Amino acid sequence: MGMVVKAKCTCGLDKDMLVGAVRATFKKRAAFPARCARCRDLVGVNVLADPPMCGTCGSAQVTPLAEPMPEGASEVASGNIPEKRSWLGKVTRAARTLTLHDRAYLCPRCDKADLRFSALRAVD
Ligand SMILES: [Zn+2]
Ligand SMILES: [Zn+2]
Repeated sequence: MGMVVKAKCTCGLDKDMLVGAVRATFKKRAAFPARCARCRDLVGVNVLADPPMCGTCGSAQVTPLAEPMPEGASEVASGNIPEKRSWLGKVTRAARTLTLHDRAYLCPRCDKADLRFSALRAVD
């Protein structure tokens, strides 16, 4: 159901993170990487919580690194976009699909666009 991804940045950030849900708790929990403004770090948040909160400091000042699917776009279409846009993980909320792509993201620790994710393994 979910995917464990490796988050790596040139500043030394190196974390394994869950994207999506695991079978036992899929109705209540869906994990997604986020920036925490208070920790200035990459944290995992439960995007099904309202509001999502940082698991480290409890702050709600978290921004999931989500790219909503463009209106009208289908998964097949995103599959046709070159490899840098290919998605690693996806979390679907009521009206929104959060997608994590294989591309550079702004790192919350060093503020450089050197943060990348790669798929490690699928999880149940
Ligand atoms: Zn925090
Ligand atoms: Zn960094």
